[in-house]
Amino acid sequence: VESYLARIEEKKHLNVWNEVYPEEALAQAKLVDQKISEGKAGRLAGMVVGLKDVIAYKDHGLQASSNMLDGYVSPFSATATNRLLAEDAIIIGRQSCDEFAMGSSNENSAFGVVKNNIDETRVPGGSSGASAVAVSDDHCLVSLGSDTGGSVRQPAAFTGTVGLKPTYSRISRWGLIAYASSFDTIGIISNNVPDAALVLEIIAGEDENDATVSQRPVPAYSASVSKKSTEKLKIAYIKETVESEHLNKDISEKTFAKIEALRAEGHEVEAIEFPLLDYLLPTYYILTTAEASTNLERFDGVRYGYRTDNPKDLEALYKKSRSEGFGDEVKRRIMLGTFVLSASYYDAYFSKAQKVRRMIKETTEKILSDYDFILMPTTSAPSFEIGKYGENNLLELYLGDLYTVHASLAGLPAISIPNGTDKDGLTIGLQVMANRFEEDKMLAFSEYLS
Ligand code: GLN
Repeated sequence: VESYLARIEEKKHLNVWNEVYPEEALAQAKLVDQKISEGKAGRLAGMVVGLKDVIAYKDHGLQASSNMLDGYVSPFSATATNRLLAEDAIIIGRQSCDEFAMGSSNENSAFGVVKNNIDETRVPGGSSGASAVAVSDDHCLVSLGSDTGGSVRQPAAFTGTVGLKPTYSRISRWGLIAYASSFDTIGIISNNVPDAALVLEIIAGEDENDATVSQRPVPAYSASVSKKSTEKLKIAYIKETVESEHLNKDISEKTFAKIEALRAEGHEVEAIEFPLLDYLLPTYYILTTAEASTNLERFDGVRYGYRTDNPKDLEALYKKSRSEGFGDEVKRRIMLGTFVLSASYYDAYFSKAQKVRRMIKETTEKILSDYDFILMPTTSAPSFEIGKYGENNLLELYLGDLYTVHASLAGLPAISIPNGTDKDGLTIGLQVMANRFEEDKMLAFSEYLS
């Protein structure tokens, strides 16, 4: 804990942490030490963890990097947080993110821009950018982030770490601030696959506080990772994603190198068509903004965090608190979501997008009943420069989520693992997607690839 605290201090300019808990983490470490000497320590004894500022920790600040939740202290812990603590993990602080987990660069935070440790002029990705830097730059061993459309996988790719998004419903969402509830998952960022497997094993599984969480028993993921499999696999890649001319050259080369290596080891790797590719991003942004607009209704200036001064009536209290509390990106998404849900446009956008989502899900599951995995790059380009995207080219930024939203729309597990660097030393991610609840198989394969 002391060495992590020193590192956090030394790397303060990266702006990773919204709050650090030094005394508490040190006290927790002492307790864990005691338990170790008594032979009573939990399975995560001494694992130092950081939480993205959307995951609740009882009696600690929680604000989704938003002024809207200024001063808010959570009265309870997320189920995932409780399960970490029960196994003697040590929580060292809460990490920055894009406001309410909306973004791909960690530039939309009320706490300011977060810098990538690999190249400080560049973004760490988002929305869990700070959580990825924290692991990559040794501020903690593991981070819990959230992944709605790539927020754990894309920052992992941008920082050379492992980013795991489980099947939708595998981990309880109790205590996770909602962005788009039918997409949101808690995700894990770590330095290697076995750490991610162990943490998943501890935090996954049923929970009476989350009606959507899966009742399925939790497999021993940490054991599946250590198994050496000699099984010959059948792997698909979507032709347009890996052979696209829009894909960065170095990423394309590194992805093909992996494909060739797998073939050389006797696995079958085939290019397939995925006719719904053009619909992934519009469907994702219609549905997630719709869900966000309703989820964020609760921030009304009355119940949580920020409240405007001297409103003239109740209506003004709501309006002014929300106008002043939310940042631009969040407002943009609330407006877009309200629009697609409005009476005149509901059928044209929202219900159509729901139908398309179903087709995406069914088509992808069908592919994964014929193949073990779908392989693709995590992103189409490595980390970009801070400030590259603004109001005039936002659409381009949204388009960058193409490779990660697929698994989120289909509710499937996916993981980003490091796949070398480009010619400038920027890290590249390789993404593995598997069928529902096949995390064990996916983690074993990722370890084999690593
Ligand atoms: N970049 C995507 C978005 O802005 C993903 C965010 C996320 O997964 N939370 O919606």
